Amino acid sequence: SCGFVAIVGRPNVGKSTLMNRILGQKISITSRRPQTTRHQVMGIKTEDDTQFIYVDTPGIHIMAKDRNKAINRFMNQAAVQALRDVDCVVFLIDRTRWSEEDQVVLQRLEHVKAPVILAVNKVDRLTDKASLLPWLAEVGARREFAAVVPISAKHGTNVPELEAEIAGHL
Ligand code: GDP
Ligand code: MG
Repeated sequence: SCGFVAIVGRPNVGKSTLMNRILGQKISITSRRPQTTRHQVMGIKTEDDTQFIYVDTPGIHIMAKDRNKAINRFMNQAAVQALRDVDCVVFLIDRTRWSEEDQVVLQRLEHVKAPVILAVNKVDRLTDKASLLPWLAEVGARREFAAVVPISAKHGTNVPELEAEIAGHL
């Protein structure tokens, strides 16, 4: 079978890092500076009899600011378009902070029919591990998520578990 997976999230949450980690290569540019990825980056991973097509989706977040710039309108359109035909969405957020921008991305997912997996990134930077669970419960209540998976894209922690969740929802 074949699955089409979109990775979405505000700038700097680690979308490109996650995609590179899953694909095992530097296919997408990562940076401390937001909006490094100006175009959609795609990658294919084949495992047993399943082919995963990953898209690192920039653009959705830009709705909040600079919404009139032609380039941003174009990217938003492309980003929303990409979500129409996906089999699974990975909504990536940062472990500690829920921001306006996360909310904007979540709004864009409102009409997405495909299962949305909430992946909470950068847990390696979490000093107070006990605070994660109540926080996850709060964020997890904002929409029906197919699964909630804490990860570290940078270190690879729990990324195989995330991939298993994705595979389970294709
Ligand atoms: P994108 O804008 O969502 O594509 O984010 P990037 O993948 O470019 O990552 C933004 C920054 O966050 C980079 O400096 C990454 O090294 C860093 N980063 C990404 N994932 C993690 C993680 O799991 N842990 C930590 N500590 N940093 C991360
Ligand atoms: Mg990126």
